Amino acid sequence: MATLFTQIVQREIPADIVYEDDLTLAFRDIAPKAPTHILVIPKKEIVSLAELTAEDEAIVGRCVMVAHKVAQAEGLDGGYRLVCNSGDDGGQEVPHLHFHVLGGRKLTWPPG
Ligand code: C5P
Repeated sequence: MATLFTQIVQREIPADIVYEDDLTLAFRDIAPKAPTHILVIPKKEIVSLAELTAEDEAIVGRCVMVAHKVAQAEGLDGGYRLVCNSGDDGGQEVPHLHFHVLGGRKLTWPPG
């Protein structure tokens, strides 16, 4: 069974897609936690950071580069936050690796 995010990659579930390349997809979070909230995902089904293997290094690198590209395109010149929740204690809900790009307001620290 394809993950929820793979279904977005395959256009089986609608999403507001802002960027796509051969390895990644970026789309607006359906329940934004900041004025700009975009998810960057690998097209490959990787559950979380804990499941990464050495061969995924280029994919993760691309995700981070895409996150910055997206932040620039959104005009987040004052800064932004890149978040990757991993596992239950990390607050991960969707079991398909994803990076949250959050910005457009002053973000507080630490997170809850
Ligand atoms: O890191 P975590 O797994 O908690 O984040 C999952 C994110 O996926 C949530 O912010 C949720 O709003 C988002 N989501 C989405 N579109 C869906 C389902 C979930 O943007 N169809």
